[in-house]
Amino acid sequence: MTVYCVVAHNPGLARRKRAHPAIPPTRSTIVRGMSRLPQERLSLLHELGNLADEDGVSLYLVGGVVRDLLLKRKDWDLDLAVEGDGIGFARLVADLYGAGLAVFERFATSRLVFQDGLKMDIATTRRESYAHPAVLPTVQPASIEEDLSRRDFTINAIAIQLNPRQFGRLLDPYGGQRDLRARTIRVLHAGSFQDDPTRLFRAIRFEQRFDFRLERTTLRLLAQAASTNLIQQLSGPRLQNEILLLFAEHDPVRAIARLGQLQLLRFLHHRLYYTTKVKRVVTAVPKALAWWASRFTNSVIDRPILYLMALSSKSSAVVVASMIRRLALSREQAKNVSAGGSLVDRALKRLTNKGTVRPSQVYRLLADLSDEALVLLLAKQVSAQHGVRVSLLKRHLVTYAKNREIKTALTGRDLQAMGLKPGPQYKTILGKLLDARIDGMITTEADERAFVQKRLGLAGWGKTMLTR
Ligand code: ATP
Ligand code: MG
Repeated sequence: MTVYCVVAHNPGLARRKRAHPAIPPTRSTIVRGMSRLPQERLSLLHELGNLADEDGVSLYLVGGVVRDLLLKRKDWDLDLAVEGDGIGFARLVADLYGAGLAVFERFATSRLVFQDGLKMDIATTRRESYAHPAVLPTVQPASIEEDLSRRDFTINAIAIQLNPRQFGRLLDPYGGQRDLRARTIRVLHAGSFQDDPTRLFRAIRFEQRFDFRLERTTLRLLAQAASTNLIQQLSGPRLQNEILLLFAEHDPVRAIARLGQLQLLRFLHHRLYYTTKVKRVVTAVPKALAWWASRFTNSVIDRPILYLMALSSKSSAVVVASMIRRLALSREQAKNVSAGGSLVDRALKRLTNKGTVRPSQVYRLLADLSDEALVLLLAKQVSAQHGVRVSLLKRHLVTYAKNREIKTALTGRDLQAMGLKPGPQYKTILGKLLDARIDGMITTEADERAFVQKRLGLAGWGKTMLTR
């Protein structure tokens, strides 16, 4: 990594009520770093800097985007902070560029979406105070230095000024660059996790994403916070958000292992453990997913939910139901996650047993499962390390994916026209027709009609069903 000038060396943790250090500029070094931005983004930042001068405010690029610039990673969604009226400035930008604008007055922030899809958050620099631990803070306008002091980790508390005369001036009061070089995640003060327990999960997210280490004191504070019931005070949606963001990372397997190691899974459910069996399933997910994605390119998998399913796939239905409630999952997510246990296991058992299974039986076993559940099914088999049965299961999945496109030519309306009384039996008849199609016993509409007629006679469907 390029060595940037460290601005304010600050090896220890900042105390809570700290005097904000003077911030000397280091313009030349950072301007070089910024040239990694695509030209049109860089031009936009210059234009916004000019606009800020005209509007009489100070403008900064701040947070994750600065970190990623310094790490030479790509993150082109821009986070800006305005010392002054941030929302007013955002309105100005939105008008000038014809960008979409959403304003969140309570947090003095706004989000812009430019016509080319670029997303930009513009916030008023602010101080935050927490009425109670784990609740959302109240915010008040404050200087950029104070704004940086309320952030989660030193590596996320760096800003770059954009006003023309200070363009590229780097503000790094907490040694963020030093920690980037040392590959370290460090909180800014000892009460950080108390103020906002979502930071426990954010710490793991950045640690795993960048392959960094938690600084010793930070790790101790995290372990301390994890040993209390602080996280229980987080609302369901906020906990869900953190968990799903973590599971959306490039390598959720390591993140899940880390949650287990740091005793954090208990906040999803006190009986959710990262056992060897669970570990095997979770570890098999990437392989199963890679196979699935290569075969079924149109299938869109909800990866975070899939990992949550894998994590809870050995838990009882009661534990899973309670975890679903704790995370305030949506109805669809909940349906998915609760299928990860017995429903998947039942299908798996039948499909990998000896003896032939007709394509229509495969269809019936899998038809109620989402694509996420199908990937989990495969992951479970992969984790059992039985190569032959994995191949067999893959064949079943390929056949099933083809067969689920099959439809019967006849509909309920046709059955009615054939003289059958409408009722629940339509579902049975159409189901039988579909099975026969899937098994290749019939292939045309004429076949279907003959099939229905014959069955009406043979199976005694007829008498009670005929309308005339
Ligand atoms: P990502 O690359 O995952 O988006 P990010 O660092 O950009 O990571 P965001 O959630 O987009 O994270 O937040 C932007 C910035 O806002 C962070 O870099 C950090 O400075 C600040 N921030 C976000 N969440 C918190 C929090 N819970 N506590 C303190 N500061 C936060
Ligand atoms: Mg971000």
